[in-house]
Amino acid sequence: MIMEASRDSYPKEFGAFLRAEKEVIYEIAILPGTIQGDHHTIFMLYNKPIDFSLVGSVHSHPSGITIPSDADLGMFSNTGQIHIIVGYPFGMENFTAYNRSGQRIDLRVI
Ligand SMILES: [Zn+2]
Repeated sequence: MIMEASRDSYPKEFGAFLRAEKEVIYEIAILPGTIQGDHHTIFMLYNKPIDFSLVGSVHSHPSGITIPSDADLGMFSNTGQIHIIVGYPFGMENFTAYNRSGQRIDLRVI
């Protein structure tokens, strides 16, 4: 679903929050007012509900490079523990997951 949404948004970025239960991400939550840019997705964080099932974020990099920018790292540090960057061409293996400090973590698609 994330890859599909990213393809639909291409060449703009797609961004959403991740909802999980028992360490399984099962839903994405799109915040009202999210701005999709060519190089960044701006989350209107004041719209972020206080919801402990939201565990992190996902956004796409149309460049295909799934390395977080400085802005991404800043966003990671205050929006949860798991952050996924997906990259063009948005195949199932075109993603990298990070923790809130920007270190790569393993994420398995089940
Ligand atoms: Zn980014």
